[in-house]
Amino acid sequence: MKATFPLVPGSVLGLMGGGQLGKMFAQAATRMGYHVACLERAQCPAFDVSRHPILARSYEDPKALAEMKSLVAAVTTEFENVPAAALETLSEGPDGCFTAPQPDAVRISQDRWREKEFLSKVAQVPTAPYCHILTTEDALNAPKDLFPGVLKTAEGGYDGKGQAVVKTPTDATEAFARMGGVPCILEKMLDLALEVSVIVCRNRQGQSVTFPVFENHHRDGILAETVFPARIPQKLHDEARAYADRIAERLHYCGVLCIEFFVLKDGSLRANETAPRPHNSGHVTIEAALTSQYEEQVRAMTGMPLGPTDPICHGVMLNILGDAWYDENDQKREPAWAGVLALPGVKLHLYGKEDARKKRKMGHVTCLGETLDIALARAKAAAQVLHLPEPK
Ligand code: ADP
Ligand code: MG
Repeated sequence: MKATFPLVPGSVLGLMGGGQLGKMFAQAATRMGYHVACLERAQCPAFDVSRHPILARSYEDPKALAEMKSLVAAVTTEFENVPAAALETLSEGPDGCFTAPQPDAVRISQDRWREKEFLSKVAQVPTAPYCHILTTEDALNAPKDLFPGVLKTAEGGYDGKGQAVVKTPTDATEAFARMGGVPCILEKMLDLALEVSVIVCRNRQGQSVTFPVFENHHRDGILAETVFPARIPQKLHDEARAYADRIAERLHYCGVLCIEFFVLKDGSLRANETAPRPHNSGHVTIEAALTSQYEEQVRAMTGMPLGPTDPICHGVMLNILGDAWYDENDQKREPAWAGVLALPGVKLHLYGKEDARKKRKMGHVTCLGETLDIALARAKAAAQVLHLPEPK
């Protein structure tokens, strides 16, 4: 090992990927006196906050990975599609870095089949019934009780992409063909009351903390709103956090891990998927919790003690998609920033992306309140000014 842990402020921390999650990690790290080396394939939000931007041809670019290795003793990731192999390369050899998370944990999250097997069999957390679909025959012969179901590509899906609702085995074969015959899973379609997530953070020493549960509302498969803490019974909070803790422990995880859960109409939980990185639902912790998910990521990878995750107020986070840059007639416009900044208790985050494409995550607002009613009223006002969907 080329450095002694804990890594102290002044050290350079490695970051694979440079999107908004990476930018907010780099903001937390630089606030605490660390520097960031960020590897990405193009100019990106996190480069704005990185002392060492590493422009790479791909995440596995040997030259870029060697440069990263020469700069840092520990590396983290902000994007689950950074190949586990790239993290492995970074960890190998006498000049190898400590990777948080470790490649094996990332490998599990990168494949929905491995992920569901791990969740249900190793961590023993309930999930939707599912099966692996590798061939047209698998789709035709899938268990009848999985219909109606959701066919999902095993790799590469996000924000509802790479998914199809299928009512019959014939539907499933057609959807499988449309997806190019790549490995998929078929999950039973569940009757959801609510979607929630839990973020767990575990450091090198095995100390682990979970945040109170996040309540998530999606629109067209993309997260639109997070309410923190979630409006669910205490028992469900405790249960979800205990599951998340167990998942992180069984993975021997180091870093920040998010677990998405479905709450069914009967009040029971099903784990849906994991993300081996900070999560969109956790943005709200920057202002509404004693320690943010990004600060926990810094603490975990450096081997520092983790911080308390208690809420300091209620928070409602609204995503700002590129759609906010278009009016009803599809004409480009500048969103009403002055109007948002005139609202009390509303914090604006913009990621610095130049091209405001529809459905692209451009920024978010976090609306704070001593009570949930106050936070929600502020979120409604912010949504109106920015033409975002009405918060729930
Ligand atoms: P992504 O990687 O795109 O977030 P998810 O597995 O989380 O993929 O699916 C996206 C959304 O689709 C979920 O947030 C949920 O609303 C819906 N969904 C996914 N799987 C199921 C299911 N088995 N039953 C009901 N709804 C589902
Ligand atoms: Mg999801």
